[in-house]
Parts: sequence; structure tokens; C-alpha cells
Amino acid sequence: MATPDPYAALGVSRDASPDEIKSAYRKLARQYHPDVNPNNPEAEEKFKELSTAYAILSDPEKKAQFDRFGSVDDQGGFQGNPGDFFQGGAGFGDLFEAFFGSQGGGPQRASGGRRDGDDLRAEAVVTLIEVLEGVEKKVTFRRAARCETCDGMGTADKSKPKACETCNGMGAVTQVRQTMIGSIRTQTPCPKCRGEGIQIDNPCGTCRGEGVTPKQEELFVTIPAGIEGGQTLRVQGKGSDGVRGGLPGDLYVVTHVAEDKRFIREGRMLETEVEITFAQAAIGDSIEIEGLTQTLELTIEPGTQPGDTFRIKGEGLPRLGGGNRGDLLVEAKITIPKKTSEGESKLLKEYAELRGEPIPNGPGKPANIFEKIFKRK
Ligand SMILES: [Zn+2]
Ligand SMILES: [Zn+2]
Repeated sequence: MATPDPYAALGVSRDASPDEIKSAYRKLARQYHPDVNPNNPEAEEKFKELSTAYAILSDPEKKAQFDRFGSVDDQGGFQGNPGDFFQGGAGFGDLFEAFFGSQGGGPQRASGGRRDGDDLRAEAVVTLIEVLEGVEKKVTFRRAARCETCDGMGTADKSKPKACETCNGMGAVTQVRQTMIGSIRTQTPCPKCRGEGIQIDNPCGTCRGEGVTPKQEELFVTIPAGIEGGQTLRVQGKGSDGVRGGLPGDLYVVTHVAEDKRFIREGRMLETEVEITFAQAAIGDSIEIEGLTQTLELTIEPGTQPGDTFRIKGEGLPRLGGGNRGDLLVEAKITIPKKTSEGESKLLKEYAELRGEPIPNGPGKPANIFEKIFKRK
């Protein structure tokens, strides 16, 4: 989406300083704020435009992006409904300051005590074999669960809480101030009800009016095949319960894949090592190796070198959600005997001689150059 020119919206030049931008924004925001222009869609539109422009120009990164490309990817939701602006997006602090001084907080909408439950996080550890098949995992977590004593109302008699007497259920208290630019309404969260707009005179004894109590929860979560460590599954509605009609939060299950000493995982690929002898590497062989779930046959080609890799098709892992498995890569590690007997040494020397290679004499005994020269003749 093309970004309207924020400089034009604020009526400032391209080289305006941050202070000039801020001051231009404050001036115009006061002029077009919906509180000052009730039921004026044009002013509301203009105000949104100002908010978007300021969100760009007050953010050095976005400003630089606009200066370079003439547009900004992420406009922080200000293109959407004006409500988005009040969800704590960039620039809100400045706007609030512009109007109400720097006491912080934000406009409140009384919820009648309705509060959505929090999203929660739990962890699940899976093995590589479980990654292969997918698995049902039990996760445990603590959540705020609806209080059974009061059915989540927070009142001793399960009745609906009455409106807060301090703010008449509005959740905010309003003051009107006379200033040079006219009267300005300021709103602060109601100090009595903390913005909830309700008053509970006789709270439930179990939850002390909260409507929820902490509870240890167990839940079986379906972990799909192919999951990677760090991927998160969202289980809708399994977070904390809401109160007084609020919606439950979601549970986010972060998965970890347990280390498997036998394999290294690279996406759908599994990597492992196999130790073979010098003789097997040279002559070739057919051996058995440990796959993820079963014993596999591996053909060692004659002349295999250290670090050569064999690929066994379809013995890796599936992609997320299943499908064909990737491959198993097997790297050859060639072992050298740590000790040789006299008979073995004799055979190895004969082997060297047969190949015309230097004949080793063992440590501490330098090769007899003259002997070699003599023998070659
Ligand atoms: Zn209760
Ligand atoms: Zn109140």
C-alpha cells in the first residue's frame, strides 16, 4: 500500500527537526482530536492521518524507510480503525502527553468487569522418534481458572457486580480544563476500580473477588510430525479463563527436540557416523547400522575415504505435518588400529612392500633410506 506523505500531513518540510515534527503534530492533533470534534468524520479522518504520519516520522527507522522508499511497510495499524490507535501502538505516549501532560495511562473503556484471560506458555520436549510419527504430549502449566465458588463473578452471591460508584461504571474519570485553545476533557483511569467500572462490596471468599483461582493444569497436546525445536503450537482457549463474560486466553506450547546422541538433525535430514576399518574401506563391505527406528543395511563402496558420506533414502524425518521422509546421511569414520601385534605388523609391512609404499619401521627407528634405495634396485 502506498504511504501518504507524512510530511505533507503534518505540514512540515522534509528537513524538519524531531522537535519541529513533534510540535507540528501536537498542534494539529489538538485541533482535530475527536474529543474536540465530536461527530465530525472529517476531523476523525484527518486525526487518523496525523497519527499515521507522526507514527512514521517519530520513529527513526520508519522515517528513514519512508525517506528512502517513499513508503513504509508497517504502519503500526494506524490505517485501520481508530481503536487500533489506543491499543498502545507507537506514538500513543506522545499523543497522551500532548493532551494530558505526562502522567501516562490511556483512555479507558469500561468493560463492566469483563476481562479476557491471559495467554499462557508451556513447554513440550519430544524425541526424534516422536518427531517422526507425531505424538500426543502431556504438558503441565498453571492457569487462572474460573472460580467455582462464584462461577467467575467474583461476588459472594454470584450476582453481577454493580457499577463503580466513583466513575458510574465508565472506568475513567473525566475532568474539563479551560485552556488557551478552549476546553479540553482529560480522562484518567478510575482510581477506585482501576478502570474496570465495577464495584464488588461483598467479594467471593475463595477468589477474593478476582473471579479466578490459580490451578495446575494438565493437557494432552497433539504435536505434529516433523516439528522443529522452538516451533510453537497454539491451543486456542486453553490459556487462563476470562472473568464476567471475558474470553479465555490461548495456550502456546513451545516445543523442544531432545538431543539424540546418535543423530544430528538438519531439517528433514538426519546425519550419523559409522566407524569402519581400513580394510572395510579399502575392499568394501555390507554392514548394518542403527537407523532412527530400525537396523539398516549400508553398502560400503570399495575405496571409501575418510569423511565420505553415504545417503540412505527415506530414513530421515518428514516435513511439518508429515509426508515423505528426508534421507539419512552416514559419514564414514575410518579407524586405524591403536596397537598391532607382531604378526599384524609383518603383514602390514608386506602390504606396504607389495604396493611399493614406504615400509614403516615403527616409532623411534628412522626409516633406513639406504635399505629402501637398495631394495628398489
Ligand atoms: Zn470466586
Ligand atoms: Zn470506577
